[in-house]
Amino acid sequence: MTSCGTQWPCALRAPYKSLRRLLLFSLVFLMCSRDLEANWHPIWREGRRYVSLEDMANFYSLSLQPGNGRSFALISPNCALRGQRDSRELFINDVKYILCFPVRVEGSRFYLTSLDLLKIVEPVLRPQKIQNPKAVTTVVLDPGHGGYDSGANCLYGAEKGFTLDIVRRAARLLKERGYQVRLTRVSDTFVPLEKRAAIANHIPNSIFVSVHFNQSHSSVARGVETYCVAPLGVPSMDEEFVSNRDFKPCPGQQQDPQNIALATAIHTAVVRALDVPDRGIKRARYAVIRELHVPGVLVEGGFLSDAGDVRKIASPYYREQLANGIAQGVDHYRQAVKKRPSPPRISSSLPSFSLQDHHSLLRIIAPDLDPHLLGLLPSPAPKF
Ligand SMILES: [Zn+2]
Repeated sequence: MTSCGTQWPCALRAPYKSLRRLLLFSLVFLMCSRDLEANWHPIWREGRRYVSLEDMANFYSLSLQPGNGRSFALISPNCALRGQRDSRELFINDVKYILCFPVRVEGSRFYLTSLDLLKIVEPVLRPQKIQNPKAVTTVVLDPGHGGYDSGANCLYGAEKGFTLDIVRRAARLLKERGYQVRLTRVSDTFVPLEKRAAIANHIPNSIFVSVHFNQSHSSVARGVETYCVAPLGVPSMDEEFVSNRDFKPCPGQQQDPQNIALATAIHTAVVRALDVPDRGIKRARYAVIRELHVPGVLVEGGFLSDAGDVRKIASPYYREQLANGIAQGVDHYRQAVKKRPSPPRISSSLPSFSLQDHHSLLRIIAPDLDPHLLGLLPSPAPKF
């Protein structure tokens, strides 16, 4: 019993060593976990969790540029996030996003809500981290309006005609790229909104792109904007405050990360193809995207109430470029969400962050941001 030179029987020594190792490992893990948690210092204000830009800079290996107290910039060689205090506009590599809630400033510190971190920043910066993205084999194209529902009108025609023309062009371009394509209507007929979403919901591995044109009483409203469904608890673009109906879940929210990634890819490609004002990626609860069980967006391809936009929309060249932007964006999305091998973990001091959103626990681990992962966005303009 003492032949091993210890007071423990040999038969018990090995399990004891294993237990000791396990306890030691657990202790180190707990200490590391505390350190990891300590990398983030969220604050709660008005029932919302906010994260500081310092913590985001640390997490994503970005440099926080000193601003004038009104604006901020988080910069790396391949990524630039810019915004202003009290504003809902965030620019990531010069693409405009409308935040769920305004940028908050306390003292000299800027904060974003954790919802904006989870629902915009994370899936846009690291689309390959989106959980369970489906392979895209079919694109369901939805020309807005139809039949007795003409949509907006202008001197050169009705919205329903322009949208059908765009999706016919996009369908041709997508088929050339190897996608299967389905249109929710192929002629001037009325199709209820819920039925349009249901068509996509019945097709496995599909994504949904609805095409519309805008109208406004504002004389300065022009350009392109792209919508995806508002996450749970987030007001639509046209509402200033959160209301009870913002907490009613809908199927489209199950794809929040895919939706914003798809919106980013298509919006960026369309704005670049057309060289038009970027009105931003926005949130709404339109029935046609609210009822989707697959990733989906709604593109507003210009204003039929603006003389300049109308002249462009009436030109086949503009419509071909818009269709081309949609096809390119679909390709960028498919490439960007493809899983890639994870880079090797270098040390145990990687900052990590767990946040419980309304649907799931999302754990994000940094740093592994590299230029290839920013497949959704163009490179940032060299402003610094
Ligand atoms: Zn419309």
